[in-house]
Amino acid sequence: MSCCLVPTTLRALRKRLDAGVPRVRALQVGMTADGGVGFTRTTCPYCGVGCGVRARAKADGTADIQGDTTHPANFGRLCSKGSALGETVSLDGRLLYPEICLSPDAPRDRRRRASWDEALEHVSERFKSIIEQHGADAVALYVSGQLLTEDYYVANKLVKGWLGTANIDTNSRLCMSSAVAGHVRAFGEDVVPCSYEDLETADLIVLVGSNLAWCHPVLYQRILAARELRPEMKIVVIDPRRTPTCEVADLHLPLKAGSDVALFNGLLAYLFRSGVVDDDFLTHHTRGSSEALLAAGSESIEGIAARCGIEADSLFAFYRLFAATNKVVTAFSMGVNQSSSGTDKVSAIINCHLLSGRIGAPGMGPFSITGQPNAMGGREVGGLANMLAAHMTLEDPAHRELVQGFWQSPHIADRPGLKAVALFDAIAEGRVKAVWIIATNPVVSLPDADKVRAALQRCELVVVSDCVADTDTAQLAHVLLPAAAWGEKDGTVTNSERRISRQRPFLPLPGEARPDWWMLCEFARCMGWNAGFGFESAADIFVEHARLSGTRNGLAAADASGKGSIKPRLFNIEALADLTPRQYDAMEPVRWPVPRNPLPGSSDSAWLFQHGARFVATQDRLPGNQTDDNYPLVMNTGRVRDHWHTMTRTGRAPKLASHIAAPFVTLHADDASAAGIREGELARVETRWGAVVARARIGTQEVTRGSVFVPIHWNDAFASAGRVGALVNPVVDAVSGEPEFKHTPARITAWAAAWQGFLLTRRIPALAGVDWWARAAGTQHCSYELAGLKRPSNWNEQLRSMLGAGAGDWIEFEDRARGSYRAALLIQGRLEACLFASAASVTTLPSRQWLASLFAKEQLEAADRAALLAGRRAGGADAGPQVCACFSVCRNTILEAIREGRLTSAQQIGRQLKAGTNCGSCLPELRSLLALTNAPATT
Ligand code: SF4
Repeated sequence: MSCCLVPTTLRALRKRLDAGVPRVRALQVGMTADGGVGFTRTTCPYCGVGCGVRARAKADGTADIQGDTTHPANFGRLCSKGSALGETVSLDGRLLYPEICLSPDAPRDRRRRASWDEALEHVSERFKSIIEQHGADAVALYVSGQLLTEDYYVANKLVKGWLGTANIDTNSRLCMSSAVAGHVRAFGEDVVPCSYEDLETADLIVLVGSNLAWCHPVLYQRILAARELRPEMKIVVIDPRRTPTCEVADLHLPLKAGSDVALFNGLLAYLFRSGVVDDDFLTHHTRGSSEALLAAGSESIEGIAARCGIEADSLFAFYRLFAATNKVVTAFSMGVNQSSSGTDKVSAIINCHLLSGRIGAPGMGPFSITGQPNAMGGREVGGLANMLAAHMTLEDPAHRELVQGFWQSPHIADRPGLKAVALFDAIAEGRVKAVWIIATNPVVSLPDADKVRAALQRCELVVVSDCVADTDTAQLAHVLLPAAAWGEKDGTVTNSERRISRQRPFLPLPGEARPDWWMLCEFARCMGWNAGFGFESAADIFVEHARLSGTRNGLAAADASGKGSIKPRLFNIEALADLTPRQYDAMEPVRWPVPRNPLPGSSDSAWLFQHGARFVATQDRLPGNQTDDNYPLVMNTGRVRDHWHTMTRTGRAPKLASHIAAPFVTLHADDASAAGIREGELARVETRWGAVVARARIGTQEVTRGSVFVPIHWNDAFASAGRVGALVNPVVDAVSGEPEFKHTPARITAWAAAWQGFLLTRRIPALAGVDWWARAAGTQHCSYELAGLKRPSNWNEQLRSMLGAGAGDWIEFEDRARGSYRAALLIQGRLEACLFASAASVTTLPSRQWLASLFAKEQLEAADRAALLAGRRAGGADAGPQVCACFSVCRNTILEAIREGRLTSAQQIGRQLKAGTNCGSCLPELRSLLALTNAPATT
């Protein structure tokens, strides 16, 4: 390994705002590269696949990004989001120094710059005062699956060992806490029993509530590659929506939202009736099968199919296939977890694998695919309010004694803290008076998000540490603390298959940004707690975490403490506890457990069952709230291919923005026609908790009648009315506390726009007078979709006030009779902005791609000016929306190529247009386009 310094040109380019050396400890940041010439090997910060990335800073403030061919999660592949990481590392919009409110009562946007000393002393004084007056349970931390394990470890240690409360929860509560609860119930510990190789070697993959093609694209690509080698591999998708993942499915079961337990209980009973029971495994390694079978009942397949809303023949086909296939992996994701019965859904799936003995051997098992890059690492250090650390439990006195003894801490929390939704309820009710929110945006992502915003507005002290300056949540902070971003962070993450990988910095810390672990340690010192937080580096923290995992954990009668082992825990990485900083820098991806003294059988998955696995009897239950006459539809939420969470990072990448530029709602043609909504027009989706306005997509193949789908990503910085979290039913699973994101009663109405249009501009426009808008990043401009309820009386005045326009040449055309208007502003021959608006359908407006391409020209030609005036591209067809983000290939270009070249496969499209030949994220869409033109897809 060699050391790599970021080029000085780049250092110069990245704005430095050092205000002298802070009194708090200076931080030494080492940068390590071992990924080739100038490249650093690190890990993608998005989904739980945990792909290895090679990254190298560029002098223009972006970065070269490549897949790491040596990383066992992706072997060099990256999806569209990972490939575009280089576009997201600029300092635009970064929070670069601490800020505090002018006074406790001052509006939250009246903050001033502060030094780290001042900011942290202020936070610690306020925490001390609130704890003194109201007790430790009046303060809380709300953290994130974006944090590295080392950050998480310090946060959890601080809260549970020193603050004296367990009020620390994480946004991972929102995506996989039901899986955690299901694992703990079945295996006694939060253990994921599968690996990615199991997916490749399975003969049947059942994907439940998982749009793998868009949400975990590299894993999806691995499965497709494996199936190409073994075409006999079968894929079944169980999902209320027909997602892009279904393009490769042998069978799709579009079950009613919330009916998964009925479906898997039916499978359990069918397996039993069919004799697909591993008696030996049941006898020696499990308990509780009789109760689970009794609870599963004996309903007919027709009855179960009716309850699930699917064809009995399809359900029977699935049951037969499952029963007949030994190597089965059931992979599940948010569609299972995000439910008021999420934990039971997980248990119902695990029960089927236990009964058939299809677990703990290659190519089989229940497999929770996590959403976030480090949801697993957070679980390992106890980052959830109901966990302790190193897979120990708050309720177990021996565990508490072990952890407190190891930490030498003044306290140890002895009961679970508040889970995410309950935590923000407690803030709303004034029971929690100070909250420190780290690397997450709950004002967008939590259910009933308007209530969350109101709660934070009332909260006595809101501290937000983030790398982005103006998230919806940061706007409500009394204190803002600048955090290191991806590319600057140093630590580890754990992916869905329990693989720990290094995230290494390849950029210097800008301004006064600092790692989260550092600011937590400095806060601890300000609180007067020096011992316990003297970490100098991420490596220090990791080895302490590794030591704790191995303490009194194993078959040895006694460890160095002389106290003997307690019940062994499967999470054990003690073999990594002696890493030197240099070895930590060089650490290769490794799957846990990595104990110092391996347990007998730990070389295979049999170790999972050393204490036996437990069946859990599950009952089919209806979702938390039901539809009624006022809210007759079911709203489902999820992700799109090219965005991540609340878009604070992906929203900055032009490559990613052009796939889907505005919030949308997918609905069935019958529901659309009943509501008078047409394709591409605006619709208002409303629930008991809130409303959004989004573009309608009539997706009769995608959603069933009576249900609508909306993506979760858009926030107030990217759309005027797109925060879907504000609509979501806040009911939670009683065991896991995970909210019901997939089932909210809703209604939909047409949003009667008097005009619609779009603005492409190099400037930040003033959008007063525009009733609806959505923003998307462009390469040298931003694009805004716009709509209004009333036509402006003077378009030119309206546009000038939006742009704050000074001198320039105007090209302008208005057809008052038709209600259409178009204008372009040129400055010294270069396009500065253009607006197209129409009272007619939005589909009559010209191509955004064509107009966006004009922003690359230093001088518009006469033909361009004429085309702007005419409102259509001269001599060229509209390319349509972008499909392939890697090579900017658009829909109409692909359709034309298919028709003209009589193409029948995605590979043929790739050969002709390159689309789909890099990350492969667009392959499902290519297959849909092939199907659309009636060409049979052969791959
Ligand atoms: Fe990142 Fe894509 Fe890999 Fe997920 S699949 S880790 S988003 S590159």
